Amino acid sequence: MKIGFIGLGNMGGPMAANLARAGHEVTGFDMVPVDIDGVTMAASGAEAAMGRDVVITMLPNGQILRAVANEIIPAMDAGTTFVDCSTVDVESARDVAKQAADAGLLPVDAPVSGGVGGATAGTLTFMAGGSVDAFAKAEPLFDIMGQKAVHCGDSGAGQAAKICNNMILGITMIGTCEAFALADKLGLDRQKMFDVVSTSSGYSWSMNAYCPAPGVGPQSPADNDYKPGFAAELMLKDLRLSQQAAEAADADTPLGQAATALYQQFVESEDGRGMDFSAMLPRFEKRSRS
Ligand code: NAD
Repeated sequence: MKIGFIGLGNMGGPMAANLARAGHEVTGFDMVPVDIDGVTMAASGAEAAMGRDVVITMLPNGQILRAVANEIIPAMDAGTTFVDCSTVDVESARDVAKQAADAGLLPVDAPVSGGVGGATAGTLTFMAGGSVDAFAKAEPLFDIMGQKAVHCGDSGAGQAAKICNNMILGITMIGTCEAFALADKLGLDRQKMFDVVSTSSGYSWSMNAYCPAPGVGPQSPADNDYKPGFAAELMLKDLRLSQQAAEAADADTPLGQAATALYQQFVESEDGRGMDFSAMLPRFEKRSRS
């Protein structure tokens, strides 16, 4: 299959390389010069999109997605598939999907979970929104880049699933870090805390798979001086998207709101920028109740 891939950063680069390794003819474009194994570079987004069966985008935000969509949609042939894997606001996802559908394309919003490790290993989870036909066209590629793809519903449903998932993640990470900081002050050994909670009703992915306490539980960014991993500013981005969506849908999300405010403070006023999002634990440890 002829694939165009636009946005070859930390995630898009290894995803494109996996498609090329699987035997697809991949043409890529990024704003900055990059060299990806097996991928032929084009001079522009439009050139990467022209004459392809499927075009995939993996971009930083909704504004950039809209700009790239304006450039590539007119270059794509009717009947071809446009898969956006970026994490963006639901409104941008729906608007771009409509623009693509009006041009006779098959749009899919398909944000991912699994991070750079999952992108490299080809074990991402895709959550997709779009028509049944569009999903069917994209699914074989999801199988190469990931281990699971869920068709969540119409356009925008993939982004809705992604921001709800990451709102839970932000909230549970803060809860887990708060509880470790409290346990420390109560004199509880961290390993004992992990042993109990990871097999009790307080368990979660944040505790069991990504434990924020160094030396406890499976290997995680906490064991590497809190180098990301998943950066605190990316968590802030996703939490903001959740609150933007909650505002638009008139949904009451007090913990999502509180988590957004806390990550904003951590990233913008404290030392959270460039740290993994689990570095909330040393942050809480340094603080007192007042
Ligand atoms: P990144 O910044 O490493 O990559 C984005 C790439 O897009 C960059 O290489 C940039 O040069 C390129 N780009 C920007 N504007 C462009 C344009 N107009 N045309 C072509 N290329 C352009 O970011 P990333 O970590 O790869 O994340 C990409 C998306 O995936 C984001 O939406 C992010 O929220 C989401 N995501 C990231 C992770 C993660 O762990 N990094 C996990 C899940 C989802």
